[in-house]
Amino acid sequence: MKEYDVIIVGGGIHGAGVMQAAAAAGHSALLIEKRELASGTSSRSSKLIHGGLRYLESGQFSLVRESLRERSVHLRIAPELVELKPFYIPVYAATRRRPWQLKIGLALYAALGGFAAGTGFGSVPKREWAQLDGLDTRNLDAVIRYYDAQTDDAALTRAVVESARSLGGELALPATFLSASLEDDGVQVSFAQDGAATVCRARVLVNAAGPWATQVARAVTPAIQVPAVDLVQGTHIVLPMSVTAGIYYVESPADGRAVFIMPWKGATLVGTTETPYRGEPDQVRPLPEEEEYLLAVARHYFPSVAGMTRADIRERFAGLRVLPAASEKAFDRSRETIFTADRDPHPRVLGIYGGKLTGWRAAAAQVLDRIGPSLAAKPRRAATDELVLRRAT
Ligand SMILES: Cc1cc2nc3c(=O)[nH]c(=O)nc-3n(C[C@H](O)[C@H](O)[C@H](O)COP(=O)(O)OP(=O)(O)OC[C@H]3O[C@@H](n4cnc5c(N)ncnc54)[C@H](O)[C@@H]3O)c2cc1C
Repeated sequence: MKEYDVIIVGGGIHGAGVMQAAAAAGHSALLIEKRELASGTSSRSSKLIHGGLRYLESGQFSLVRESLRERSVHLRIAPELVELKPFYIPVYAATRRRPWQLKIGLALYAALGGFAAGTGFGSVPKREWAQLDGLDTRNLDAVIRYYDAQTDDAALTRAVVESARSLGGELALPATFLSASLEDDGVQVSFAQDGAATVCRARVLVNAAGPWATQVARAVTPAIQVPAVDLVQGTHIVLPMSVTAGIYYVESPADGRAVFIMPWKGATLVGTTETPYRGEPDQVRPLPEEEEYLLAVARHYFPSVAGMTRADIRERFAGLRVLPAASEKAFDRSRETIFTADRDPHPRVLGIYGGKLTGWRAAAAQVLDRIGPSLAAKPRRAATDELVLRRAT
């Protein structure tokens, strides 16, 4: 039976990150992905590598600080994949968050980012409003500009996997995790590939199956603890219009939620929504009412969208957030990553629940810290904050 130090289930950004971190630390690692790399949430995000300005309102300062640090790392190691962009927040007479509140928030954002490159902000002079892609300037009081970064989430995931493979990490794809059984000092992992079941052994199984993580955890015997999480669907639509000046960060006129309107592959991406989801993760689809909600936001700010209907939507996709189970609105819940181990300090199974695209490298480092005691020390091959990530050709 083939043996690995670490077997990882899920080829999204978290699985990719753990594969890279394990390989960089000198461990043997196998990543199992059932469809394609980034075929789950990691190709259906808002594609931002950002500090998360709005998390300041819910007091998630350590998350914002870590995310801004990770943004700086991405800009350094992945310049082909991550680009700093201007973000515009238009403030109208009826906008809830006023310019002075935004500027206080952005000053705090800059401080949490260590006043590094890309933390400057200010008002866009009125004479430049005409360059803002046809933004409605009626009743417009101010436009605040700050900076955050945009990526191609699926390409980023593939680049991290390539980096891991260059360090010796192995990939089984397509291959579906079936079950795992715990042993005293490791775990037997069974997965289906090419129509046959294969069994391998690992010191640690890392469950990075995103919205499927609960299903994966339930296939472990004897049973392990499964954290209580909710799945919350987020839809994006792509509209046939062009925004080129940057990314617009606007309030939905319906409920005040923050929505992004951003350039995406020559068109415009609008998202996102937050709809509780109870079905199978494989079945998630954009709902008509979510598309209407996003169209209404785009129409409200860009008169050029006024005549567009759902028939004009070029592309639509929905992803699932994994959030701690709670009764409060999804918007207000913690975006921190949850890690669960079957035992401490020598875990055989470690689960990653929730988290952010932006934080994949930091999350992977935490996973390696947690599983380190279960693994024999090996000579390190590389440091993940120095490995350059390239767009696959
Ligand atoms: C709408 C939305 C917008 C977001 N926007 C942002 C953003 O702009 N910036 C940001 O930082 N974060 C954002 N996030 C969060 C971020 O996208 C996620 O945290 C991240 O993509 C989760 O990655 P993951 O690897 O945990 O899960 P996934 O990407 O879902 O990967 C899980 C993988 O596991 C595989 N899998 C499942 N079961 C099995 C099995 N049995 N065998 C083998 N493989 C299996 C799946 O096929 C899938 O590829 C957003 C999330 C959503 C939902």
